[in-house]
Amino acid sequence: MSTVPQGGPSLPQERRVVTEIPGPKSREMFARKQAAVPPGIGTTLPVFVTHAGGGVVVDADGNSLIDFGSGIAVTSVGNAAPRVVERVRKQVADFTHTCFMVTPYESYVQVAEKLNEITPGDHAKRTFLLNSGAEAVENAVKVARHATGRQAVVVFDHGYHGRTLLTMSLTAKNMPYKHRFGPFAPEVYRVPLAYPFRWPTGPENCAEEAAAQAIDQINKQVGAENVAAVVIEPIAGEGGFIEPAKGFLPRIAEFCKANGIVFIADEVQTGFSRTGHLFACEEEGIVPDIIVTAKGIAGGLPLAAVTGRAEILDKVHVGGLGGTYGGNPLACEAALGVLETIEAEDLTGRARRIGEVMLPRLRAIAEKAPVIGDVRGRGAMIAIELVVPGTKEPHPTAAGEIARRCHAEGLLVLTAGTYGNVLRFLPPLVMPDHLLEEGLTILEKIIAEI
Ligand SMILES: *Cc1c(COP(=O)(O)O)cnc(C)c1O
Repeated sequence: MSTVPQGGPSLPQERRVVTEIPGPKSREMFARKQAAVPPGIGTTLPVFVTHAGGGVVVDADGNSLIDFGSGIAVTSVGNAAPRVVERVRKQVADFTHTCFMVTPYESYVQVAEKLNEITPGDHAKRTFLLNSGAEAVENAVKVARHATGRQAVVVFDHGYHGRTLLTMSLTAKNMPYKHRFGPFAPEVYRVPLAYPFRWPTGPENCAEEAAAQAIDQINKQVGAENVAAVVIEPIAGEGGFIEPAKGFLPRIAEFCKANGIVFIADEVQTGFSRTGHLFACEEEGIVPDIIVTAKGIAGGLPLAAVTGRAEILDKVHVGGLGGTYGGNPLACEAALGVLETIEAEDLTGRARRIGEVMLPRLRAIAEKAPVIGDVRGRGAMIAIELVVPGTKEPHPTAAGEIARRCHAEGLLVLTAGTYGNVLRFLPPLVMPDHLLEEGLTILEKIIAEI
């Protein structure tokens, strides 16, 4: 029997801080990272991980951190989730790659069948698989352009869609994603998003006014008949967990339908139970023409999917879509393990419960802390937006300071937001209640100190 501790849910579910964070071993490895890897690859918290599972990440110095990040909404089923590990272990011994376009294998088809079944809408669908969220968004746009014979793509303020040339062009924020990386892809048009907290005339008017502005800009500046696709996150992720005001998404979807525009939901961050629905579009009954998924799909193995109406996806000629690794057999097995886990452990219900624990506690913290301007989110995708007290002026240094102090105490949190002033919380959906509560208690203490 191996005495090496394993990752996964059998790891002790406890916060344990035994050195400074980062500790000496992590610091030594970080110095090597600095010498070997360009600084453009940033680091949120320079602890080097040896194991992870359930609600914790364990580092080389033996610290066990409460994980409020899930590797950016990826390990929703937990790290090294047993069903994922078991399937991948078997697959890696059977075969590791053939290229699905050369000689196919069943697991790819199973993932496609499953996604066609569980994504919103009961129309005929097709799915194809890729390696990353950005690659999938690009492919969704390719398909929409091909199917419509149009070129323009409409995206929104605060949107994030990836780091490749096209998806960087679709992304709103300059620093750090776009700065000095131009020129950008043409035929990309940006319109307002219904951001309730920052809507000039108040949250109650936000949905209607933002939709009217967006649609007016599309009509007047682009021409609806030139638009191939509208690409939108049902909750803006990197932009700061902005839930568009209720009514905004249905209005945009309706406009797309009326004008033959492909409505693409980028559910890379929101998908697979994260928001307390299997897909965030379900909250308002939106049925996208194409839904793009990645992050939570395969428990950390690189996989992404484009799922959409058969009549749109079937238009592309044979050989027009693909890639060497897309739908790699290990990643497909992992995805099947993820979908089994979501069902068997009711992780959608679990995400809701996490929201029910977090939101009231954060709202109570916010009442005593004027530095918190807004508490928002759904399910296990929750954020606080920090402001200069008494104003709505973004307060990114407060967000950074709170994150730093959390990290020092063994609570891994991430920041986000167009203004860098949002703390976002994305715990694995399998996180035990006691760790969730402990994480919130640490946060409460740190915010009170600030
Ligand atoms: C992360 C993300 C992407 C890009 O996915 P990668 O796998 O990093 O390429 C695209 N869209 C959204 C909404 C994301 O959160």
